[in-house]
Parts: sequence; structure tokens; C-alpha cells
Amino acid sequence: MKLSEIGEFGLIDRFSPPFLRDLPRAVVGIGDDAAIIERSADEALLVTIDTLVEEIHFVRAKTTPRDLGEKSLAVNLSDIAAMGGTPTSAFLALGLPPDTPVEWIDQLFEGLHGLCRRESVPLLGGDTTRSPGPILITITVLGSIVPRNIKRRSSARPGDVLCVTGTLGDSGGGLRVMLQDLTLGEDERSLLERHCRPQAHLAEGRWLGAQPDVHAMMDVSDGIDSDIRHIMRQSRCGARIALERLPVSRELRGAAGRHGWDLIELMMTGGEDYCLLLTVDPSAMSAVGRAFARDFGRELSVIGSITAEEGRLELLRDGQPALLHQHGFDHFLGRGV
Ligand code: ADP
Ligand code: MG
Repeated sequence: MKLSEIGEFGLIDRFSPPFLRDLPRAVVGIGDDAAIIERSADEALLVTIDTLVEEIHFVRAKTTPRDLGEKSLAVNLSDIAAMGGTPTSAFLALGLPPDTPVEWIDQLFEGLHGLCRRESVPLLGGDTTRSPGPILITITVLGSIVPRNIKRRSSARPGDVLCVTGTLGDSGGGLRVMLQDLTLGEDERSLLERHCRPQAHLAEGRWLGAQPDVHAMMDVSDGIDSDIRHIMRQSRCGARIALERLPVSRELRGAAGRHGWDLIELMMTGGEDYCLLLTVDPSAMSAVGRAFARDFGRELSVIGSITAEEGRLELLRDGQPALLHQHGFDHFLGRGV
């Protein structure tokens, strides 16, 4: 059997059971945005790792090394935000072909350093090796959190309201602009920026972590269509998403109209939005929503709800069942964009 038949998540399910057995009581391993190692009642260590591979995650000719350095850290910060935590340090493993221009590498580090400085996340070590082909960038980020604020993918409850902290599909739109070399109007430029320079929702994650009525949380990396299934699986529930409620930016609406993109497919499956997907106790939703809007100056967007029907994802459009033709990202099953 080939890996492409079981896919990325099929593979993780296949190898993870023995590693999930007999873990120490205060440790949570494979399955969430970050591992959790509880140190005391007041502090837990969070650990996350992500890799960017040339030609898979980026095309060298179409990305500046500065943006790439920043993005390689930002995607990890997003996983710490998804737990409700604060990132504290980073480690970097680089695989580089010998003909890589040193100036290119300098700029990669400039981008990385800029974000390290802005978020007070020092780079504390790493590893550098020769790569026979593509550039490989792997970053590990450690984070810290008060254990009672940890938000897991497994804590959603039937009846919870499903929300996101930002607009969806902008990064997927930016990727299309980049790959199709579309003419850069104002909208296209903004989408490209969203794709190349994702912003981790760290302040939002910490704020939501401190809300007891927020139950489950994760970041949107593969697209809602794929990511919600992680919450459904880990929480043994189902979900209902009202497609007409997905938050869309003015820029994406403009570009989608001009280029004939299917807005809903892009918002559900484009991926790399790096906003947060969370579930909120229904009785507290209006209070949490109001407080979020007051503190962040924008809405916490309600997009659906959690249902009791384990494994069932219902997509509705104005109340009627709807289907998607594409699905979220999986490294081995192929992507839709
Ligand atoms: P994320 O998108 O938040 O980075 P993934 O969906 O990539 O998380 O991974 C799902 C879970 O599987 C995570 O808990 C991750 O740590 C774990 N995982 C993925 N690949 C591996 C691997 N090669 N070895 C161990 N754990 C892995
Ligand atoms: Mg994640």
C-alpha cells in the first residue's frame, strides 16, 4: 500500500497508538496543535514543530526569503496561539543545497529575526545540514501556559457555537494570485500579503484561553473543511457549518468576482489562514462575542455549531444541504487549490 492511499492523517493514525499509550499523567502527546507537558498547577510547557519544504510550501522564485523566514516562525506561533499559550523560544533546523546564495540565507534570517524580536521569542539553537535538493526549514517553538487556560481540540460539546477569529480564504486567494501570476490590483496585493506574511492570532489565543466558556480551539492551517474534522474526531461530535456565514474580506470578494473563483470553496479549503477556530458554550456566546469585539475591534464570527452526531459534518447554505467539490489540504492525498 502506498502512502498516497492513506494520506497524511491516515499515516499519523497508523503510527501514533503505541506512542500514545502509557504517557505520564501530566503529558499530552500527538493529536493537538502542540504537545502539553504539565510542570505544576501553575505552568505547562507547550511544544510544536512545523516544516516548510521548497516546492511544497513555497516556490523560491515567487517568495522573498525575508517573508519565508517570518512565515516559518509564524506558522508555529499560530499553533501556540491555538492552545491559548504564549511562545517563549524557538529552534531552527535548516537543510540547504550547497549552491544556495548566502545573501538569500541572510535575508531568510533577517525575516526570522524580525518576528523573533517582535514577539520576544529568542532563537536558542538548531541544526544545519546539506540538502540534496529542496530547501527544508523546520522550526520548533516552545510555549508556556497556565494549565487551566489550555484549550484542546477534544473539549468541544454538542450545542457549542462554532466561531473563527478572522476572515477565511484570503491566503488561498493569495496563493492563486501568486501561482497564476495575476495582475496585482489593490485586492490581489493584499491577498498575496496575507499568503506570504500570515499573522498568528497570539493575542486572541491568549484572550480566548482565559475564557472558561471557550471549550475547544485550534488554528486554521489546512482549511476549515479539514480542520473542523480534527475537533469532531477528538471531541467525538459532529458539526454544522452555515456557509453563508463564513467571514469574507472585501479584498477576497473583489478578487473572486474578477477572477471567477468559487468563494465558498476557497474559504472552506484554501487553508493557511492561521486564524483560530473555536467552540463556545451557547449560554455565554453573546457575552464572549461582545467582550471580544470590545477588546479586538472586530467580530468573533459565528459560523455554525457542534452537534452530537459523531463524525457528521453538515454543510448548509441558507438552510439547504450543500456539497464541496474540493477538500482541505492533505500532503499525500493532493490539494484542491
Ligand atoms: P498542526 O497542523 O496543528 O501542525 P498536524 O495536523 O500537522 O498539526 O498534526 C496533527 C498531530 O499529529 C499533531 O499533534 C502533530 O504533533 C502530530 N504529528 C504529525 N506528524 C507527526 C510525526 N511525524 N511524528 C509525531 N507526531 C506527528
Ligand atoms: Mg495547528
